[in-house]
Amino acid sequence: MNLDVIVSLCKRRGFIFQSSEIYGGIASCWDYGPLGVELKNNVKRVWWRDNVYLRPDMVGLDAAILMHPRVWKASGHLDHFTDPMVDCKACRRRFRADQLDATPWIHYCPATKGNKFEIPGGEPCKHCGARRTLCPACGKGELTPPRQFNLMFKTFMGPVEEDAAVTYLRPETAQGIFVNFDNVLQATRLKLPFGVAQIGKSFRNEITPGNFIFRTHEFEQMEIEYFVNPSDVIDGRPADEVWHERWIKERLAWYERYGIRREHLRLREHEKDELAHYAKRTADIEYEFPMGWSELEGIANRTDFDLKQHSKASGKSLTYFDEERKTHVVPYVIEPSAGADRSVLAFLVDAYREEEVRGEKRVLLRLHADLAPVKIAVLPLLKKRDAIVATAREIQRRLARRWVSAYDDTAAIGRLYRRQDEVGTPYCVTVDVQTVGDTERGEAGDGKVTIRERDSMEQIRVPITELETVFRELLTDGVAWSAVRARYPVVTG
Ligand code: ATP
Repeated sequence: MNLDVIVSLCKRRGFIFQSSEIYGGIASCWDYGPLGVELKNNVKRVWWRDNVYLRPDMVGLDAAILMHPRVWKASGHLDHFTDPMVDCKACRRRFRADQLDATPWIHYCPATKGNKFEIPGGEPCKHCGARRTLCPACGKGELTPPRQFNLMFKTFMGPVEEDAAVTYLRPETAQGIFVNFDNVLQATRLKLPFGVAQIGKSFRNEITPGNFIFRTHEFEQMEIEYFVNPSDVIDGRPADEVWHERWIKERLAWYERYGIRREHLRLREHEKDELAHYAKRTADIEYEFPMGWSELEGIANRTDFDLKQHSKASGKSLTYFDEERKTHVVPYVIEPSAGADRSVLAFLVDAYREEEVRGEKRVLLRLHADLAPVKIAVLPLLKKRDAIVATAREIQRRLARRWVSAYDDTAAIGRLYRRQDEVGTPYCVTVDVQTVGDTERGEAGDGKVTIRERDSMEQIRVPITELETVFRELLTDGVAWSAVRARYPVVTG
């Protein structure tokens, strides 16, 4: 599938817009529209529910984006949070030196009178056998030697732009958790192992942002720092290694639970030479995005590096008193670090389907009901019948107290269904003549409506008075559609 299909759907239906579009846009910045904000909030909500509310060993935190500049010295970001960058001397484009070999390149081939070719990354020219040495984008300019470029955004605090006022927009949320380790411990009296979860914005001056919301300058992270007693042993193995395994399993299962197909997920171990200097082991969960397998989440064993660094730099002890061994220990930390925006992209891509129904193309997002931006759409079959419209509006108002729901009467019913399919609405409720009756003909309504399920397109006839019970089962209690359907007459057509 082409990423452009998702980009275009997102713009057309109000999921994601380019930032500052009326001014020509700003590279790699995106705004979440009416449906996008719901989807992203839902991703964050289920992550928080599963990792904070449903676990007795986890609590939450929301630290400030701006932190004391010494945090970034102690964490190593000031000295090491860099990427090697090269510039083209001709077109001035900038590239990450470590990604050049994998980038497709433009080549003016001398063996074919200088014809221009685009050659896949890492491959030689089929005609002259040459490999890339010049700029991959313009094919003409020489590249500068690599320079280290710090990815942190610098800013000034206060009215004077002087060195003493320099601070940074955080490039990760994790450090807010480490510097609050003792505060959380004292306030909660939690026993190891325990974890702290945080969702928030991070900023990186990426050299090569791109691929829609996959890599941007401003993004949201969903991070966990899970503290483990390094002296503990579980089944004969160091506790930190066991907890690392558990978190990898749990995080893979989480993506699957919300609808990502297992064959589109894989685990990639970091090689020894790729490991961050503080990490004992790191495994990335990768997703098969339209542009290829790429990182969705990193799960690292950061050892006691961060707490020790901050303790050294701040002079404050960041330890845990091990009652059993009567000694202070510096916990090891396992860090599952996910991107909210990257997750949104993966959920969208995985949910996207094109089907043929009665000779017509049907586009649908098979989003998990917990993630779907709108849970229920209430649709009147005939817009001109006041009783139908009034009943539909009243039903929508009632359902809206519990579930995000929409009312739409701007097209014929077939069209309305297609629109809801395309944005992933799991259920549509249709009000028709039978529901309200026909006073002119002296016919009474049956007080029943049709519920249509998105994926199967099956329809059942349900009394209005039972709607809330049915949707509580389907949307809150996780009862399967087939179980609910079995209780009601099926409507065909
Ligand atoms: P990459 O190798 O893709 O640059 P990373 O290894 O630097 O990622 P981490 O520092 O491990 O990323 O950050 C954890 C998560 O935060 C990533 O798995 C990703 O989901 C998200 N993330 C990191 N950088 C960006 C970005 N520039 N835009 C969007 N999401 C990001």
